[in-house]
Amino acid sequence: MVRVRFAPSPTGPLHIGGVRTALYNYLFARKNGGKMLLRIEDTDQTRFVPGAEQYIVEALGWLGIEFDEGVHVGGPFGPYRQSDRKPLYRRYAEQLVADGWAYYAFDTPQSLEERRKAAEAQKGTFQYDCTTRMSMENSLTLPADEVRRRLDEGQPYVVRFKFPEGVDITVHDMIRGEVTMNSRLLDDKVLFKSDGMPTYHLANIVDDHLMEITHVIRGEEWLPSAPLHVMLYRAFGWEDTMPRFAHLPLLLKPEGNGKLSKRDGDRLGFPVFPLEWHDPKSGEVSSGYREQGYLPQAVVNMLALLGWNPGTEQELMTMDELVELFDIEHVSKNGAKFNVDKARWFQHEYFQQLDDETVAAMLDDQVRAHVVEAGHDYVLEVAKLMKERITFPRELWDTCRYFFVAPTEYDAKDVAKRWSPDMHIHMQKVIDILDTVPFEYDAIHQALLEDYIKGNGLKMGSVMNSLRIAVVGRTVGPDMLTLVMMLGKDETIKRVKRAIDTITV
Ligand code: GLU
Repeated sequence: MVRVRFAPSPTGPLHIGGVRTALYNYLFARKNGGKMLLRIEDTDQTRFVPGAEQYIVEALGWLGIEFDEGVHVGGPFGPYRQSDRKPLYRRYAEQLVADGWAYYAFDTPQSLEERRKAAEAQKGTFQYDCTTRMSMENSLTLPADEVRRRLDEGQPYVVRFKFPEGVDITVHDMIRGEVTMNSRLLDDKVLFKSDGMPTYHLANIVDDHLMEITHVIRGEEWLPSAPLHVMLYRAFGWEDTMPRFAHLPLLLKPEGNGKLSKRDGDRLGFPVFPLEWHDPKSGEVSSGYREQGYLPQAVVNMLALLGWNPGTEQELMTMDELVELFDIEHVSKNGAKFNVDKARWFQHEYFQQLDDETVAAMLDDQVRAHVVEAGHDYVLEVAKLMKERITFPRELWDTCRYFFVAPTEYDAKDVAKRWSPDMHIHMQKVIDILDTVPFEYDAIHQALLEDYIKGNGLKMGSVMNSLRIAVVGRTVGPDMLTLVMMLGKDETIKRVKRAIDTITV
């Protein structure tokens, strides 16, 4: 039974790189008929940010990434918040010490700082590891009764992992293959502190084991920690049930040099967070995909393809199709460049899939917000006609406003290009035609385009674009006669009259 987890730390809003990690876990779980759980890793209280956990739950819910177990839905392996599991970890730390895989270290922050400075003076760096641990103040160097006394007295300590010297540790990564590191290079990481809190490494391994996680799918930034994790499984004697690892490629800046950051989003005008985030400390607001009007399906589809492809050219995939097609084998080893245009393209595609009534309801809200009255059928008709030009809901009003209010200004450039002095005469003729022929598409087409414009050898582009300037304010919009039919005879004539009276060339 496949069991995967998404295990964020609530240190702020969830970056879209984290969302992608959650998505890949979800797709993998569903594809394999497994379970997906949400575990909150909040053991580092100094980095805890209020509201971050709720944000994570809300963001993943918005995107349709569902969990079978987790902090918000419960489940048989709970609690799913590490701070609620605090009493559990001590005994695992103590077991490692008893088995010789870890030791108590009493070094004070000051003494560690001194060692660091001394190393720097020698142009080196200090690392607490197999080469230095025997010169430090810990249960490997102090007599046993002294260690006992210090512990009984409640002196502050940490438990450090004791890497065996000179062993090659191999991580079998599903994406990268075998990654081997020698323990000589690795420092004796802190696993547990005397305040009773485990560090990330200990809590993560203990919980993955107790929650029977089969696959750890996470960001590449955790690859350097993986040898320690493999060693911890060995130290606990859990190697035979150790999960398989898959480290996902980084999400890169659009230019490809370095990790995608919030600053890139600010610089290039796209969100790097799923939802808007109000920083509780600074009050700073960061934009979110949801508030920008992105559809969750568009964000999911775009993220799925940042670092994975189905092995074909297919780009548009629903969540169900993604589940069907997803496989770790097609996850790339290389970082994936974020592409703003592509994000907008997906959004445009998914916007087109919205049904007309949904788009009409969005448009209706904006029409009302501009204190304009319009009937439902009319709004629906506008929505149907204009949908293909829309990417974000917020564009609806600006793109469609001339269906609801007459222009009061005329684009100077368009006027200069299209409105010649004789246009007043031709526009007067338009009014006459609209007034006299039956108000039907074909009849107007015949009378205006065929008989008048073509019949008199006039330039089609000039006359029709001038009419457009009169009705719309500039030379944009759908088929001109369709627009005239929708606005109706009186409104069209009113607009053309106003243009004749206003435009001077
Ligand atoms: N808490 C870690 C994070 O914030 C989890 C890393 C992992 O998946 O092991 O990303």
